[in-house]
Amino acid sequence: MGMGKMKFDDLTEKPDLSRAMLLRIGRYFAPYWKQTACVLLVLLATSVLGLLPPLLVQQIVDRALPKGDMSLLVWLVSASLAATLASGLLGVLQSYLNSYISQNIVYDMKNQMYRHLQGMPLQFFSTVQQGEVITRMTSDIAGIQGVFSGTVVSVASNVLILASTAGTLFWMNWKLALVSVIIIPLFITPTRRMGSIRWKLAKRTQEKTAEQNHIVEETLSLSGYMLMKLFTREQREWNRFREANAETTSLQIRESMAGRWFMMLVNTFASIGPMLIYLYGGYLFIQGEISVGAILTFVALLGRLYAPAGALTNLYVEIKRSVALFQRIFAYFDMEPQIVDRPGASPLRLGANYGSSQASGDSNTPATAEIEFREVSFAYQSDKPSLRNISFTAPAGTMTALVGPSGAGKTTITNLIPRLYEAASGQIRVAGQDITSYTLHSLRSQIGLVTQDTYLFNGTIRENLLYASETAGEEELIRACRAAYIHDFIASLPEGYDTVVGNRGIKLSGGEKQRIAIARVLLKNPSIVILDEATSALDTVSEYYVQQAMAELLRGKTGIVIAHRLSTIMAADQILVVSGGEIAERGRHAELLDRGGIYRELYDKQFGQAVPQP
Ligand code: ADP
Repeated sequence: MGMGKMKFDDLTEKPDLSRAMLLRIGRYFAPYWKQTACVLLVLLATSVLGLLPPLLVQQIVDRALPKGDMSLLVWLVSASLAATLASGLLGVLQSYLNSYISQNIVYDMKNQMYRHLQGMPLQFFSTVQQGEVITRMTSDIAGIQGVFSGTVVSVASNVLILASTAGTLFWMNWKLALVSVIIIPLFITPTRRMGSIRWKLAKRTQEKTAEQNHIVEETLSLSGYMLMKLFTREQREWNRFREANAETTSLQIRESMAGRWFMMLVNTFASIGPMLIYLYGGYLFIQGEISVGAILTFVALLGRLYAPAGALTNLYVEIKRSVALFQRIFAYFDMEPQIVDRPGASPLRLGANYGSSQASGDSNTPATAEIEFREVSFAYQSDKPSLRNISFTAPAGTMTALVGPSGAGKTTITNLIPRLYEAASGQIRVAGQDITSYTLHSLRSQIGLVTQDTYLFNGTIRENLLYASETAGEEELIRACRAAYIHDFIASLPEGYDTVVGNRGIKLSGGEKQRIAIARVLLKNPSIVILDEATSALDTVSEYYVQQAMAELLRGKTGIVIAHRLSTIMAADQILVVSGGEIAERGRHAELLDRGGIYRELYDKQFGQAVPQP
């Protein structure tokens, strides 16, 4: 289906800084242009306000102090205080706007991502690495919140501060200003080097951390843990984990030390600046060209020159990182194909059944739909067809059993009916029309699927049942559970229908879970029922109840059953023997046995000894 195997982390290697990409990113910022404009205004104001205190120092030293003018002194100090206070207040406003914009972009992207992932085909979830979806949803999108302040705000504020400061310095004394500016390159080189070293280290740390998480996920999950224990791989896994952990640790130390060296260098260079100013400024003072106040102002303003220069140097890395982040997310958004409604799709309406949530088991079960496969082929991977030219008709209200060796394609056939996967060629028809002509919602509303590994989410039995039909009342619930032969069991639990199941609740046996799943489908009351019989042996009593529940579920429905039990196979209206992605034989039990083909072979292997021939 053209999804291919994509390694998302590769994308961080080469951020795409093309116009199209930047425009695409810009679209997420666009709705917040008003707030962004406000941020820029605030930044402009704070960069000007920040100049005031150093400039006032000059007035204090050159005017208030020599004249002994106390009131001027108080006035100047107050003005300086006011400027600081005002820029502090504006800083708060800016933080608010920042986080308002950032969080809203995160909000928009999260929603879009969730909606997008919901629309992804099943294939996606079977190929994507465990935990990957969560990472994409949480840490990548969360990373976006730093983008606005890391790029837009950073560029604007640093450029404004740098420009306003440099302008002021040159306006005060161009010679001294030139000396101040000359040492800026000293900051740029080490900053750039350290920036790139840290970036590389950070990337490797991230990779190692991911590896570590992967080991944890693999070995400390329920099934991974069992695998590890049963194959006594603890020591090996422990070594692997320790190694990855040790590497992460040393990388992290190196990363923080790279930062430390950088700080030391910058601090050293930063102290060269004032010394140069004192030296050359002192000379100019002796020449009578500038005042003491001007020298002090110069020194005070130097910080506003060097810090932004350093910050701007590393901005490119920050921008690349941000673009890469967006790219990783966009890679997800770009993943197609999704199985969606065809334009002009119409709802599938099946008799009185449509839209009703009545439990079945009534004698007046409504008319049901016919399923027809016409020359259907399908491949999970383009080079290896899993189904070839499957054609059959399952008349309304009958039960079709799919039998065959494992890996033959039985599950694949059933997954095509609710369009969990899309047939590559051929046609699947329900109620006389191509299933792609129906809306997905209406099609799936008519299909009940009970798989082998029943999924019950963490919650009460009632909540699990009501997932099928939120509006079902207590009576319907009990009726469905009675029909599924599970009511008595549920009622015998201390908390009855409010018993919590799943990781945080009681453990149910395979048979009990399957019967709850059957009750859930009964509540949904679909016209088409797809059942995958459990291959694992249930005890005789469980099996009996599951069989009864299944029979109840199939009553009056069009049923497709992946059958493993002889009783089911014998009750089927038709048997399709699937082998190697094709229908090898078809017919009823007795005919197929007589034919002496694959079916006969399967039968002899599985049931030959235990059950006498009819
Ligand atoms: P059955 O249900 O008869 O045991 P399946 O329909 O599950 O067989 O599988 C048919 C073939 O398709 C097998 O070769 C299996 O390996 C392959 N297959 C099943 N699911 C996937 C998947 N998600 N991705 C790729 N190949 C798959």
